[in-house]
Amino acid sequence: MSARTLKIEDAAFVLTLDPQRTIIRGGSILIEGQKITQVGKTKDLAQIPADRVIDARNMVITPGFVNGHMHISYAHAVRGIFPDDVKDRLVTVFQLQSAMTEEEEYFTSLLAIVELLKSGTTCFMDPGSTKYPDACLQAYEDSGCRIILGECVTDIQEARKLPLFPTAEAISRTEQFIKKWDGRLDGRIRAWAMPFSAVNCTPELLKASKHVADEYGVGITLHHSSKPKFRQTCLQEHGKLPTEHLEEIGALGPNMLLAHVLGLEEAEIDCLARTQTSVVMCPSTSLKSGAGTRENCRMPEMLEKGINVALGSDSANSSNHLDIIRSMNLAACMYKDARQNTSLISAGQAVEMGTLMGARAFGLEHELGSIEVGKKADLVLFDSQRPEWQSLIDPLNNLVYSADGRSVHTVIVDGRIVLESYQQSFVDEGQLMEKVQEIGESLLAREGISYPQSWPIV
Ligand SMILES: [Zn+2]
Repeated sequence: MSARTLKIEDAAFVLTLDPQRTIIRGGSILIEGQKITQVGKTKDLAQIPADRVIDARNMVITPGFVNGHMHISYAHAVRGIFPDDVKDRLVTVFQLQSAMTEEEEYFTSLLAIVELLKSGTTCFMDPGSTKYPDACLQAYEDSGCRIILGECVTDIQEARKLPLFPTAEAISRTEQFIKKWDGRLDGRIRAWAMPFSAVNCTPELLKASKHVADEYGVGITLHHSSKPKFRQTCLQEHGKLPTEHLEEIGALGPNMLLAHVLGLEEAEIDCLARTQTSVVMCPSTSLKSGAGTRENCRMPEMLEKGINVALGSDSANSSNHLDIIRSMNLAACMYKDARQNTSLISAGQAVEMGTLMGARAFGLEHELGSIEVGKKADLVLFDSQRPEWQSLIDPLNNLVYSADGRSVHTVIVDGRIVLESYQQSFVDEGQLMEKVQEIGESLLAREGISYPQSWPIV
């Protein structure tokens, strides 16, 4: 029996992200099962029948977006609680995260996934915040998303309440996690090594985690936002800058994805280029946290040296939004302003980071990131019949500078329609939001956490 066919017919534009970056005006796409089998001009595919046809007139079609760093565990339940200038935010973040129950984590993760899919993200990495993947599996299955999971481990105690283990146990847990989870749900779940960072993991743990990742043919991710104090300690203890130290212990390579990468020096950028290490930057988080775009965010320099840069949104309490279109917009604007140079980070580069480079960062570039024959059918259909998309002459500029995730009309993952006419059908959204609100209020009360609000709520 041949696979079920789905045809997306007569789109206004298809941004293929193929090697020539072809944009097809008046295009159709044929999907058989999970894969794209034809892409071309509407007239060239006109005679091909399909089991189901989506009329895509007035739609702009892009590949599904890839979010390289997105904590989906606790944040949706307590979104927006932190004052802008809060101190020790991460101490509270990990306190809240560790206080969640299995059931709570299922609901908050599901809400995060709904938000991600509705703004066009079809594949994302949860960098180790999920404590109960067994309890959340149903959410991944029902929603149809692609997710990279891993168990967060550390072996150096610190003030933040992160999962702490003896080194050997941290390593064996990493291995067990990958064995149990990698490739599940038809390959929509991938599992990686996720030691938290070089601040709270010993070089032994980092080295061993990289070995485990290499052995199982998966990736490894690490928070690598090196603050001045850590840089100082690293220089004193190892005589190297943090990224140089990672290279020296053999932790870098094409399957390593470093997150945030703020405050890097030229020599460290060279380490990344030399080892073909990927990075994921979170523009919305670095802007909100005052990271310093001019000096500390070196995205243009990294791209210039051929480093693969993905985009991430971080959690709903870091940026605090998950809309990858807004992240692309920020990436394309922040450097133009900070460096007073309009040639930095083009709209095209921003879209590449949100699609192809994200796929490459996950080691999935042969499957995801573009609309080409043979790739997985992960697609986003934008509704251009909205004021912010008009007039429609250059769809690339409109996507990055005018639109946002609210115009995402239909989303397809792995050939399956997960969002149609702005609606998903895997969960009752009203009930879900009510539930997550209750969880948030209960969590804050249980943990005795509250912050003053800027304006009086009466
Ligand atoms: Zn993170």
